[in-house]
Amino acid sequence: MQIIDRIAQIHDDLTTWRRDIHAHPELGFEERRTSALVPAKLAEFGCEVYRGIRKTGVVGRLRAGASPRSVGLRADMDALPIQEANSFDHRSRHDGRMHACGHDGHTTMLLGAARYLAETRNFDGTINFIFQPAEEGLGGAEAMVKEGVFDRFPSDAIFGMHNSPGLAVGKFTIRTGPMMAGCAFFDITVAGRGAHGARPEAGIDPVIAASHIAAALQTIVSRNVRPVDTAVVSITRFHAGDAYNVIPEQAVIGGTVRAFENETLGLIEQNMRRMASGVAAGFGAAAEVDFRVVAIPLINDATEAAFLADSAAELVGADNVDRNGMLVMASEDFSYMLNHSRGAYIRIGNGDEPGGCQVHNPGYDFNDAILPLGASLFVRLAERKLPRT
Ligand SMILES: [Zn+2]
Ligand SMILES: [Zn+2]
Repeated sequence: MQIIDRIAQIHDDLTTWRRDIHAHPELGFEERRTSALVPAKLAEFGCEVYRGIRKTGVVGRLRAGASPRSVGLRADMDALPIQEANSFDHRSRHDGRMHACGHDGHTTMLLGAARYLAETRNFDGTINFIFQPAEEGLGGAEAMVKEGVFDRFPSDAIFGMHNSPGLAVGKFTIRTGPMMAGCAFFDITVAGRGAHGARPEAGIDPVIAASHIAAALQTIVSRNVRPVDTAVVSITRFHAGDAYNVIPEQAVIGGTVRAFENETLGLIEQNMRRMASGVAAGFGAAAEVDFRVVAIPLINDATEAAFLADSAAELVGADNVDRNGMLVMASEDFSYMLNHSRGAYIRIGNGDEPGGCQVHNPGYDFNDAILPLGASLFVRLAERKLPRT
């Protein structure tokens, strides 16, 4: 592995920063400690620092030479509402909050790259280090784009990286075009009429209506979506009633939809609305659908994906970069940045030891061994995008 020497030398520092962030997890748009720590470090390295971009977003800017070229490197800072099950020293200090997706590691890798690039300045142009809040379903990337982050910090190309448990240390995967699914959340409120559990004829049972809606929704993917397109409709919530002898007034079902094209998400929404109101009407009930797209599909630009894969291959060898990585049904809101600016996103192996935890698991931890590799990739990307002539 061709990790940059100077970055390998600061591995202990990187590990200390990562564990400190891990021990102090903060939820989306509440990253107050992290969004104070990141700018302090950036300023110490010698970057220009801009805070408060959509609440807790941070951008560090580094310029060298006179070239108008620019590149954006992005990391996410938020944690998840999960109770950590680990017992190591750097476990979460906060009940019910945990860095279970490795954003502590992503932030640290980008800080490591910023430190090296500020020291060496072996590039010609502008590097924007973008630290976004609220990646986990709360719209941090979209909020930063809407706030004009790329008007203030134009970036010819932007790059993001996510750790991947199950993929060996020293390996990367990427693909051109769609890579991760778009995501919507939905709630369907079925309104009936409450009654005594022994006198169903006096009410309209929303539990029965909602049950039939839940069953009917299963046919959207099999009957409405083209078989060659990929989509998921999962009902993950079903809430109704509090008592054994009361038919409740309403039932609420909720869940998530995933697809690799915005059109497919739209088609599913349309069918869900028709199906829910039609089935509910059949029972004399009424259904209201709240359908919210929380992430559009993540689509890698072909040229920038090849550039990113080449940069990774320089570090770990071509054999360790899978350029035709699997499609992933999970979502990532960096998609909103890629929808605005050309760029690409890559997965870095977090280790494939047996018993290792997946992200969003209470036993997960980011693998400190990969910090120098990820930081080196951010550095190489910037130096190759902004070469000195
Ligand atoms: Zn996550
Ligand atoms: Zn994540």
